[in-house]
Amino acid sequence: MSIDYQSLAVKGVQALSPYQPGKPIDELSRELGLNPGSIIKLASNENPLGPSSKALAAVRDVLDELCRYPDGNGFDLKQALAARYGVKPSQITLGNGSNDVLEVIARCFADPTSEVVFSQYAFAVYPLVTQAIGATGVSVPAKDYGHDLEAMAGAVTERTKLVFVANPNNPTGTVHGAEAIEAFLDLIPARVLVVLDEAYCEYLQGDGYVDGLSLLERYPNLIVTRTFSKAWGLASLRAGYSISSPEIANILNRVRQPFNVDTLALAAATAVLSDEQYLQRSRAVNAQGMKQLETAFNELGLDYIPSAGNFIAVDVGEQAAEINQLLLEQGVIVRPIAGYGMPRHLRVSIGLPEENDRFIESLARALDTLAAADPGGV
Ligand SMILES: *Cc1c(COP(=O)(O)O)cnc(C)c1O
Repeated sequence: MSIDYQSLAVKGVQALSPYQPGKPIDELSRELGLNPGSIIKLASNENPLGPSSKALAAVRDVLDELCRYPDGNGFDLKQALAARYGVKPSQITLGNGSNDVLEVIARCFADPTSEVVFSQYAFAVYPLVTQAIGATGVSVPAKDYGHDLEAMAGAVTERTKLVFVANPNNPTGTVHGAEAIEAFLDLIPARVLVVLDEAYCEYLQGDGYVDGLSLLERYPNLIVTRTFSKAWGLASLRAGYSISSPEIANILNRVRQPFNVDTLALAAATAVLSDEQYLQRSRAVNAQGMKQLETAFNELGLDYIPSAGNFIAVDVGEQAAEINQLLLEQGVIVRPIAGYGMPRHLRVSIGLPEENDRFIESLARALDTLAAADPGGV
């Protein structure tokens, strides 16, 4: 007798669809027979500079240790983070990417009786981890594509255990300033944990800058998560972390896997934190590339959502899927975000100037192709 294993999976998992990552270069190369060297990927908000030379050197230095388990406490990395950000090592929880930490948080604090609040168009991992543990996700309608913080606070009920806020948000790039975040935290009961996901905080500059860490003392229910995958350029190695009260960190550290950050990732992350030049260059290339894309979108008459991250969501119209396909055929990978409920937008990561040019040219060509195929169309 055959068993329906699908029906054996826990309920939340049965209905789960896996996270859709950006298409890898090798996959597109296999599918369309393109030379991998001719493909550009602007689909996963990766750092276009390549890894920091300090990180690379640190990785080479520890290669002989691959036969040993990593330092499960991440001593050096926690020291480096603590020194850089003025926190105590006991406030830090390391993760296999911050994704890992987000999942650990959900597993520690929510169960099938809980509600978890997040925003429409927010990072896809929030509903995913919520559903995986069988909790009820409460998606609050966005305001101008950004988090409607007041409405989110209003969505908190007796059953709410967690609220996820991405600031800046992915895929929309929207951001809230310090005042708005504080006003929001004031509205949230202390028994409800707030996860402030600052995956892109290193790109924030000037007045808009919000530093979740400065709020930790005042709001003990706050957990700030950050990552080495974006501005620090180490997406492949999987290193992220949260900073919270030591009490919350202690709970998270019970549930995370003991060796969730490997030796190479620990070494690279520790080293890159002292590479201030790399960070400055990441910011500068991003700011310049953002202008380049905005200018191009304006010239092409395309609406976009002003972004505080290292990516931008552009409205290419009803035929976004076709445009995406035409881009792929030209060896340009961006991210369609219909799965986020944004079927007209493509999310494009900021690349090097020449990559941005190539994307812009390919996009213009795709728009022309569609216009030629349907001259009366939109
Ligand atoms: C990219 C991203 C992350 C983290 O990714 P990791 O590589 O797992 O650290 C977290 N939150 C948001 C909003 C992101 O865009």
